[in-house]
Amino acid sequence: MRPPIEILLSEEMIRARIAQLAEEIAPRLREDVLLVTLMNGAFVFGADLTRALARLGKPLTLDFMVLSSYGSGTVTSGRITTRMDLSIDPTGRQVLLVDDILDSGNTLLMASNHLRDKGAADVLTCVLLDKPARRRVPMQADFIGFEIPNLFVVGFGIDYDQMFRELPFVGHLRAS
Ligand code: 5GP
Ligand code: MG
Repeated sequence: MRPPIEILLSEEMIRARIAQLAEEIAPRLREDVLLVTLMNGAFVFGADLTRALARLGKPLTLDFMVLSSYGSGTVTSGRITTRMDLSIDPTGRQVLLVDDILDSGNTLLMASNHLRDKGAADVLTCVLLDKPARRRVPMQADFIGFEIPNLFVVGFGIDYDQMFRELPFVGHLRAS
């Protein structure tokens, strides 16, 4: 059964913030930037951010990585593996790494180190949501959509056991 969801960030709030984020990010981007979206959770945010940057006239090359951290439900294990790597060589390029949520920091730290190991010249990071209270490793994003409290969120590409990715807003599971 699908648990009830309470709206935390509406479609309108997210749309407006992504347009602002693009304005913040665009001046920092080089001509050769490679925008890397972490799948699956960031696919909606990555798509919207890509188009917001394109509206500002930024040329982008796009690539994707699939990481998995084991465990389902609302707890992540901290063990992260690369299930699908980049298909474009990032050597010497600036990379804008896009993820859905910065939580313990393990995922973004591991992914940015991976990109540097593969030769990226510069890695900028952008997350839709940041939960600073949950940080376990020293990792900050260069660009943050929204800082949120320690709630388990879903929607806008983010799932709970593969449910709720389709929701156009960010919500949280209501305690029932
Ligand atoms: P970290 O490695 O920073 O602990 O976790 C980052 C990843 O954990 C996110 O990309 C996301 O996939 C998952 N995650 C963290 N918080 C939440 C949450 O509130 N809801 C869901 N569905 N996933 C989360
Ligand atoms: Mg994720």
